[in-house]
Order: sequence, then C-alpha cells, then structure tokens
Amino acid sequence: MLDEVYQEVILDHYKRPRCQGVLINPDCKVDLHNPLCGDQISLTVKFSGDAISQIAFAGHGCSISQATASIMSELLLGKTKVEARRLSSLFRRMIKSQEEGASLQDLGDALALEGVKRHSARIKCALLAWDCVDRALSEEGAGGSLRDQLPE
Ligand code: ZN
Repeated sequence: MLDEVYQEVILDHYKRPRCQGVLINPDCKVDLHNPLCGDQISLTVKFSGDAISQIAFAGHGCSISQATASIMSELLLGKTKVEARRLSSLFRRMIKSQEEGASLQDLGDALALEGVKRHSARIKCALLAWDCVDRALSEEGAGGSLRDQLPE
C-alpha cells in the first residue's frame, strides 16, 4: 500500500510505539474514535508553561492510526503550543494534498505517512491522533490561535 521505506517507519512505530501509556493527573485528556475503521485513541498531555512537557497515548486500531499516534507524540514532545498547532496544520495540509515538498521537512517521521493521501479511506485513521491533540490544545490553550479564531 505505501512505499516500502515509509512502510518500515510506520511498522516500526506500530510495533514499538513511543510515548505509549496514560499520564497521571494530565492537564488534558482526549478520547476519540474513528467508527469507519474502529480505531481508538486516548491522548493525555501535560503542559509546562507554554510547552508540551509530557504526552502519551493509549489505544488500539489499525497500524496507520496507532503508528501516527506514536510518531506524533514523539514529534510534539517538548514543542510549544504554537509550534504544535503549526505542525498539526502542516500534517493536515500534507494529508489533504494541499502541500508537498521541502516545506514538510519539519514533520520528521510523520513524512512517512504522506502516502496515506492516496488512500482516502485511511485519511481519518491518520488524522485521529492529530484531532486529539488539536482538541487538547484548544481546550488548554486559552489565548492561543485556535481560541482566537472562535467568535465570542
Ligand atoms: Zn484505521
């Protein structure tokens, strides 16, 4: 389905997930599922000032959904909220074929998921973890850019 090299990255994260677990006393906990595929992800996040100091996911589902959660958690650990929002937006633009090339380099291992854009049935699988983090950031991030876009 996906290019071979990229498939290795995805399988590696699927078989040896990073940041797996549930944080005690998280600042945010978001549970989402993707009924189309049966994927479930529970994301817990702790913030320290403006940065993601701890992040962990638990869940089950297809390799795309679980590998994405692992890749995303590793990528966002230590990032500021602003940077995390930027990377989430960048990932969405990649998956929706709105952006490609050098501007995607900041996505690191998440670039391995670019091939998903050619398989529309799997796009929701790849976005589930990012939907969790977006919600965590918007709930937590008063004064942040997402909040600013909402009408009062
Ligand atoms: Zn799935």
